[in-house]
Amino acid sequence: MRDERSRELYDRALSVMPGGVNSSVRATMPYPLFVERGDGGHVIDADGNRLIDYVMGYGPLLYGHDLPDSVQSAIQSHASAGPMYGAPTEVEIDLAEFVARHVPSVESVRFVNSGTEATVSAVRLARGYTGRDKIVVMQGGYHGAQETTLVDGEAGDAHPSTPGVPQEFARHTLPIPFNDEEAAQEVFEEYGDDIAAVLTEPILGNTGIVMPEDGYHETLRDLCDDYGSLLIFDEVITGFRVGGLQCAQGEFGVTPDVTTFGKIVGGGFPVGAIGGTAEIIESFTPAGEVFQSGTFSGHPVTMAAGYESLTYAAENDVYEHVNRLGEKLREGITEICEDQAPEYTVVGTDSMFKTVFTREAPESFENSCSGGCRQRPTCPRYETCPKNGGDVASAQTDRWERVFWQEMREQGVFLTANQFECQFTSYAHTDEDVEKTLEAYKEAL
Ligand code: PMP
Repeated sequence: MRDERSRELYDRALSVMPGGVNSSVRATMPYPLFVERGDGGHVIDADGNRLIDYVMGYGPLLYGHDLPDSVQSAIQSHASAGPMYGAPTEVEIDLAEFVARHVPSVESVRFVNSGTEATVSAVRLARGYTGRDKIVVMQGGYHGAQETTLVDGEAGDAHPSTPGVPQEFARHTLPIPFNDEEAAQEVFEEYGDDIAAVLTEPILGNTGIVMPEDGYHETLRDLCDDYGSLLIFDEVITGFRVGGLQCAQGEFGVTPDVTTFGKIVGGGFPVGAIGGTAEIIESFTPAGEVFQSGTFSGHPVTMAAGYESLTYAAENDVYEHVNRLGEKLREGITEICEDQAPEYTVVGTDSMFKTVFTREAPESFENSCSGGCRQRPTCPRYETCPKNGGDVASAQTDRWERVFWQEMREQGVFLTANQFECQFTSYAHTDEDVEKTLEAYKEAL
């Protein structure tokens, strides 16, 4: 595969940007793949290579690189009317009404510019609303580049996971293992009266894709109710991807107090949002007293792209298509693993998929999980599924990037470059793309 141009661009970028990139996850080895343009479910890189793209911008691109006509014309008409004003526009209300109509927990919504900004604001909101400081998070979970959640360790012994975060901040964050009801109960018994919120993704999407066990979110819901804490679902990845327009919370039937969104809700443009009951969300200024503000928030081009994208999804077979291809990939890769690589586990649901290189070869492949299963723990393949961030962290992370990811790229498939980030099907992907991808997996595995 040619890559001279990507190498040249990387060389230039290194002189003026730290690590040559604007988001660390893009710094793939030996140098990043610079993209020239998108085309349907594919990207064409700077050297002219065409790759089937399952990175999908790390999640926002429900339509791949081909936006429906209605989305394109809304973007263009808003951009050509002058990009933004510092005053409200009607399309912000359109999108807020859409979200409130479809997502069970949402009556009121504040738009911001990224998933990080959404979770930062949600944490401030929870602290301001409850008058408490402590936030329970899941070990291995990711909620953006924010001080409260960039921590490692365990409840009572958490420490910053990066230089630049004061130890005093980490003191207020209580990390527990996902899917461990006992650990959740214990953390509430010890700190319950100081806990402002539990912040979790409904499905861990930044650590190899980990599904919740039956009853886990219900337990979190009950504990939050008992102790007067808020339950925050971070649906930055799962929002408008898992469970269709009702999001993962509708699918699982557990309603959080606050939901954070990003990615798809902006139709591919920078976005975040914090939604919840009117009573809680109206704690934000100017309705309430918890300060929240932003020059670009509710940007008209983003709002138009988000609104038209979600409206198109409501009126067409979008989720049917992306979920069918997701299932086809998970089943196909599972079969290949069964044959060639039984120690690898396929995980995911709806339009999300990943292969986690975690497991000892099971005695019988019947015990190995193909992902997407909502029947845990009764599923016969349950034993080999990752159940928390620690299970995925013990995977062969180096092998993923240095060997497997490179090999798939050689085969013309662009996957997320580390073990932890998930991959996505889009409305632009075709059955032919999936078949070619399975051939590539066969070669690479
Ligand atoms: N929360 C979750 C669950 C995420 O997956 C991400 C990003 N991958 C974020 C928050 C942060 O979003 P952003 O990168 O838009 O700041």
